[in-house]
Amino acid sequence: MKTTGTRSLALFLLCGAFLFGIAVFLAGYVFQGGEWAMQAYNGHLTGGGQLSYAGEILDRNNVILAKSENGERLYPQEETVRRACLHVVGDSNGYISTSVQNVYRSQLAGYNLFTGITTPTGESSGNDIKLTIDSRIQAAAYEAFQGKNGAAVMYNYKTGEILCMVSTPAFDPSNVPDNLDSDSGYDGVYLNRVLSSSFTPGSIFKLVTAAAAIENIPDLQTRQFQCPGKIVINNNEITCDATHGTIDFQDGLAKSCNIVFAELAVELGAEKMTAMANEMGFNQNFTMDGIAVKKSEYAVSGAEEHELAWSGIGQYNDLANPYHMMVLMGAIANDGVPVNPYVIQSISSPLGIPSKVGTTSQGTRLLSESTAAALQEYMRYTVTSYYGDDMFPGMEICAKTGTAEVGGGKQPNGWIVGFSQREDLPLAFAVVVEEGGYGRSSALPVASAMLSAAGG
Ligand SMILES: [Zn+2]
Repeated sequence: MKTTGTRSLALFLLCGAFLFGIAVFLAGYVFQGGEWAMQAYNGHLTGGGQLSYAGEILDRNNVILAKSENGERLYPQEETVRRACLHVVGDSNGYISTSVQNVYRSQLAGYNLFTGITTPTGESSGNDIKLTIDSRIQAAAYEAFQGKNGAAVMYNYKTGEILCMVSTPAFDPSNVPDNLDSDSGYDGVYLNRVLSSSFTPGSIFKLVTAAAAIENIPDLQTRQFQCPGKIVINNNEITCDATHGTIDFQDGLAKSCNIVFAELAVELGAEKMTAMANEMGFNQNFTMDGIAVKKSEYAVSGAEEHELAWSGIGQYNDLANPYHMMVLMGAIANDGVPVNPYVIQSISSPLGIPSKVGTTSQGTRLLSESTAAALQEYMRYTVTSYYGDDMFPGMEICAKTGTAEVGGGKQPNGWIVGFSQREDLPLAFAVVVEEGGYGRSSALPVASAMLSAAGG
């Protein structure tokens, strides 16, 4: 009896383990089948990682950005468009991890639980994905970089549609170079710098210091500052690009006087500066269509007075992510509350039935309505009085440029962030050009090219 009992128990346990194993497999099949089917080692389906029988990717005007034909993944005829759209669309090998072809590869391949990747007739059942980007604007922005590295992004701050998202360097997905990993010219080429990089902001951060000053210093408007070209704090020299002499706050921002903003940061103190930066989205997580975006950073705990001064003019430890900067511009344009950007307009089955549709949604307020209104005026004055409205003819642009020192013997990074106030042109943008020098001469032309291509 005893032996039989033990044997029964052993058999029972074995059966149990078998059933458990089946259950785990089925759960995996149901929930992760699409991923298994699209692993690169599943060569007969993906052609060595390629999306050989996948659906199409289209831009907002139905220009085909990627499609499969006879087992091959094809990209647009024009090489500039292929390069300009690389980081949004992706390559065939999935090198660009945040790209549509990588993130949505199961949907593009049309995997479903019952028929797998192909329909019973052997054709692709891949979903088509329509994007909000405009390939013409992409190409215009890409060319405006003139071979320099950087990031450019622009969206409709009323609807959330991203019209342009370009990261350079890029490569041609139709002719992938074999020296991507060895040539330093391709450093960071797999990153979409808009989403996955952050840069020293330089003077564009003065908008944050300005917001803190607007909210905390009652006599800000009437105050006169003195810029002798440089000041010394803690034996550390804070220098300005010019000797502005007596200057008020409005011209301090327009002419980007370092002395005005260094002194304001010190007067405001680490606590108020940090509170304003956090409210405006620094040290916060943003996402785009569920993809995590690299944080912008502002950290002055333990900073000495001269370091706090530098932090107020966008140096010290400050880091800004281009996507976050664009959202912040959208918030200022929208009286404090941003609309969340998105790039997926729709995902639809071969029968045209949509499984996902991009919609307009509001984000968390990033600044008060009155501070947003004040910044709108100051940023508009900055363009009309300093950059010149003819840089953006008829576009009613509010903007701020930056020239961020990065050290290491490198040229500064050039920035511009801003938005149009025209009712029929509700666009916000952020551009950074690595080692571009002055933002006004490097990043501004890229923004201007994007806006012009958008019909500004
Ligand atoms: Zn100055």
